[in-house]
Amino acid sequence: MQGGCTGILRTSILQYDFPMTVESIPNFTEPAAKLWKTIPADIRQRLLANVWCGQCSDATIITNFTGVVRKGDLLLVGKCAQCHGDVARLIESN
Ligand SMILES: [Zn+2]
Repeated sequence: MQGGCTGILRTSILQYDFPMTVESIPNFTEPAAKLWKTIPADIRQRLLANVWCGQCSDATIITNFTGVVRKGDLLLVGKCAQCHGDVARLIESN
C-alpha cells in the first residue's frame, strides 16, 4: 500500500507550485510587487479576471501586465485578452 502515497504527494506539490508561479512577477516595480503580495491570491486572480475594457465594453482578463505604484495605489497596465487593446486596473490600497 506504500505506492499509493506517491499520487497524493504529487498532487499536493502541484497545488503548491501554482501560487509560487503567481509570485514571480518580473514586470512589477519593487514597491508594486510588495503591495501585490499583500493581496490574497484569490483576490488577485479576481482582479486580473475582472478588468474593464473600453473597446470591448465588457469586463475582460488583463494579460502581459506590468505593475507600478502611483500615489500609493497599485496600477496594473496591460492588454485585453480579447481585443489586445490597452487596459488598466487601479487597485486602491487602504
Ligand atoms: Zn478588449
